[in-house]
Amino acid sequence: MPTIDAVPEESIRPPRVVRDAETLRSNLADVRARIAAAAEGCGRDPSSVRLLPVSKTVHDDRIAWLADAGVDLVGENKVQEALGKADTFERLGLRWAMIGHLQTNKVRHVVGSAAEVHSVDNLRVAEALDRRLQDAGSGLDVFVQVNSSGEDSKFGLPPDEVEAFVTDLAPFTSLRIRGLMTLAVFSEDRDRVAACFERMRALQERLRQDVDADRFAELSMGMSGDFELAIEYGATTVRVGEGIFGPRHTGPDDYWPGVTAEQAKH
Ligand SMILES: *Cc1c(COP(=O)(O)O)cnc(C)c1O
Repeated sequence: MPTIDAVPEESIRPPRVVRDAETLRSNLADVRARIAAAAEGCGRDPSSVRLLPVSKTVHDDRIAWLADAGVDLVGENKVQEALGKADTFERLGLRWAMIGHLQTNKVRHVVGSAAEVHSVDNLRVAEALDRRLQDAGSGLDVFVQVNSSGEDSKFGLPPDEVEAFVTDLAPFTSLRIRGLMTLAVFSEDRDRVAACFERMRALQERLRQDVDADRFAELSMGMSGDFELAIEYGATTVRVGEGIFGPRHTGPDDYWPGVTAEQAKH
């Protein structure tokens, strides 16, 4: 397995609790530097990796600091929470990406509000999105979520069902497929995490060959604990929350059903 020597593990500073704009800017700069180093470490252009800061649980003042630092797109895991922040996002000129599980009955809140949806993994949601988008005469960038770890607790399609699923998406012409998204297993064992990313890399390669190179150009994978590894396996969007905003105080189970605090640390 390739390893990154550009940034030695022990030199990585843990994210600090963010109480002012300066600390947030410094965390953001650290994460950007680590992304660049990880990309360069495996011969990739750092600009081929997009940072998507995840603002779930984060309050308005911090989101404002993030916008002041030049960020224009954030990720949110829950529709209800994103809706509550919609005015703030609009005031700050921020767009948001839906990265959490999407239920069919919430689709109407997402269309016209979210700029991207990273969690499309069933036809009912795809159909509901398309119907609303067609009515509105608009389109939406979407990612197909894949369950790369095989865990019951994770949403997403099994890798071997993705190709058939994408074929079934063809009638929904308002959905612009940009690529694949996953959450790797929460584990301290780097090999297990890497195995998830490798499954995604291989799946992406197959889809680009057999289906369409452009529509599978993107891989949304990697979070605070594993984004450097994800970059080695081809991540083009990394979704980072705690690494920028500092530790969250909600239980992980609020966002990832069945995941314990211990697991989420890894
Ligand atoms: C919260 C969240 C992230 C970011 O997690 P961190 O560990 O805070 O970086 C990424 N993806 C999804 C789907 C999330 O819900």
